[in-house]
Amino acid sequence: MIIVADEDQIHSNLEIADRLSSVAQLLSTDKANLYKKKAYRRAANTIRGLGESVNELVRRNADLTVYPGIGKAISGAIREIVLTGTLATLEKLRSDASPELLSINDYPKLDPRRVQRVYTRLHISTIDSLRQALENGDIERVLGSRMAQHVRQGLTASGAILLYQGHDLAGSVKEYLLKQSTASRVEAVGDYRRRVETIEELSFIVLADHFERVIERMRRYGGQTPLIEATDDSALFSLAAGPLLRINLAERRNWGLSLIQRTGSEAHLKKLRRITGSLSALKLTASFPSEQSFYDHFGLRFIDPELREGIDEVQQARDGTLPVLVTENDIRGDLHLHTDASDGSNSIEQMVAAAQEKGYAYIGITDHSQSLKIAGGLPPERLWNQIRIIDRLNERFNGIRILKSAEVDILADGSLDYLDDLLRELDYTVCSVHSRFALGREQQTERIMRAMDNRYFTILGHATGRLLLKRPGYEVDINRIVAHAKENGCYFEINSSPDRLDLSAKNARIAAAAGVLIAVSTDAHSTHELDTVRFGIEQARRAGLEKALVLNCQPIETLTKLFRR
Ligand SMILES: [Zn+2]
Ligand SMILES: [Zn+2]
Repeated sequence: MIIVADEDQIHSNLEIADRLSSVAQLLSTDKANLYKKKAYRRAANTIRGLGESVNELVRRNADLTVYPGIGKAISGAIREIVLTGTLATLEKLRSDASPELLSINDYPKLDPRRVQRVYTRLHISTIDSLRQALENGDIERVLGSRMAQHVRQGLTASGAILLYQGHDLAGSVKEYLLKQSTASRVEAVGDYRRRVETIEELSFIVLADHFERVIERMRRYGGQTPLIEATDDSALFSLAAGPLLRINLAERRNWGLSLIQRTGSEAHLKKLRRITGSLSALKLTASFPSEQSFYDHFGLRFIDPELREGIDEVQQARDGTLPVLVTENDIRGDLHLHTDASDGSNSIEQMVAAAQEKGYAYIGITDHSQSLKIAGGLPPERLWNQIRIIDRLNERFNGIRILKSAEVDILADGSLDYLDDLLRELDYTVCSVHSRFALGREQQTERIMRAMDNRYFTILGHATGRLLLKRPGYEVDINRIVAHAKENGCYFEINSSPDRLDLSAKNARIAAAAGVLIAVSTDAHSTHELDTVRFGIEQARRAGLEKALVLNCQPIETLTKLFRR
């Protein structure tokens, strides 16, 4: 088939998504436009992750509104882009924009207001000088790491995504490979299979008779996906959604061996090779169709992919001491969630009903405390009132216990945001740092330890305040904090918000090694966010946690005992 190149035709989903992002970027920040801006951005994101070619969908007259975030208006805009090669709304915005803003518009992911701030502070005015200021560290030094991160992401075509976005993307690529290419078997491997928090490269192994056909088809993923490099058995693409895509050809007889070779981290494979010898050499002489056959052959227990980081799992597989990792089914309740009393969007009753649907035995209501005014923190009299409401609800609901709690701010001096006579009424507390991130490591550590000295401190919420791909956490001495928690009967949480996952797997290992229990909490702000517990569980498994070490895998009777100090 010969494809005739037409200069005006928009081929790839990336090009279409970029046009929509451009509209979002150029729309002024007037209140009236905020919703519109968001809608265009959301639609652009959806399209970046789609395997089907939007161009083809439009030409087939398919209904685009079945995709999340694409309503009638934006569906119309997409049709216009595909069928006419332009978008009147965008052309109008461009003709009204200043030359400076127009140059920013070549990079649709940049936020013009933030770029303007960089320009003003650094006395520069072009994209070239912006790039230079990024590379020589001026942006980070003068405007902070968050700004530098934003500019870096805006200026680079490809980039890392959060693990939860990887789930959708991996699903879409797998389906495409199975349905559209000649691959008969497809499995995700690499960082994604180990559930690393952020994904820079999505990696698959495939079984196929003609690898070059797989490559050819993949180049048409999402309309067009650029091929970066290819050999007889490996290909690297640049996905519109951000990350790179690596596809390796595998053989049926060594499918299991390829899975092992492509899943483990470098450190893991190094330790494994001490037992098995070179994996590539094995491929020539032996046959391991499944991972189990490989492990059996070398006298090892099956190592869960999340553990294959080269810590102590190879030795444990040999000794038969691998942990039995916690699963979503082990979870009995959720200990961190918000209602419409503070910044959540559902009532207590609605959250309880959703938790019951998940089969939970208990949930803890943790609305924000008084100092966090931007999140609608509750003044003492409103928390008193909520306590009475929950007491009444507990009489009404059967089979689920509603725990009285709050997400209590740890103030700058390490004191808690409510007085003891109120804290005493709660079943437990989640105590979090939401302010003064810039305190030094020593001061931040002391602040949290002082908070733990309060006998009503129960669980430390999102321990480092990190936001993945946005900002690093504040600095703390995690070893000292863990030791202090152990001494005082305090606990940690793995916050399941996909951009937090805080504690990190590494810090959770430190807590677990000290015998400090960890809650896997969603920090849900709406009923559907209760399902994000899945992401917290993934991190808990990476940390090697068994259910005995997870607070909310315990029955309510054990929990209430654990909460007493
Ligand atoms: Zn919080
Ligand atoms: Zn929260």
